[in-house]
Amino acid sequence: TVAAPAHCGGIPVYGIPGTNQERTFLACKPDAVQRGLVGDIIQRFEKRGYKLVGLKMVWPSETMAAEHYADLKKKPFFPGLVKFFSSGPIVCMCWEGKDIIKQGRQMLGETQPLASKPGSIRGDYSIDLGRNICHGSDSPEAAEHELKMWFPEGVSDYSKSVDAWVYE
Ligand code: ADP
Repeated sequence: TVAAPAHCGGIPVYGIPGTNQERTFLACKPDAVQRGLVGDIIQRFEKRGYKLVGLKMVWPSETMAAEHYADLKKKPFFPGLVKFFSSGPIVCMCWEGKDIIKQGRQMLGETQPLASKPGSIRGDYSIDLGRNICHGSDSPEAAEHELKMWFPEGVSDYSKSVDAWVYE
């Protein structure tokens, strides 16, 4: 068994041993907040059956934005990305459910809005690469790192009786 970090209510950040229940970090970027898309984004995951276990608004500093996107620091667009990500509040979310890391990415769409299918969040609401509305962890390792960074205080560990109607 994997030791469960205390900040995650006893469940390991990116998985519950013996199941494919995962947790991921999703965020509504500053453009989503400004455009009033937060409720819609949350509703898509709720309606699908995923469980919201962490939710808060944070206005990231440039330091936090740079840390969040540290993997991209050599890219030419990095300074603009950091400036944008710290330009206003974001909504930080931790979602839990079967295959949520991969499914979350599919629900977001592709990084490039032009390649994002209608029906995905980016495919429905975005046009430009640098204003693509939402963020989602792209691997279990990224989910663990990002959840530790954005939810150091932990998330809410609770069960939902409706899960018997979501999972067989
Ligand atoms: P994703 O957000 O889909 O995981 P990346 O981690 O590759 O994609 O990039 C992070 C964010 O940086 C993207 O969501 C996008 O807003 C921005 N970005 C990526 N590539 C470019 C680029 N070539 N020019 C400008 N912004 C970019």
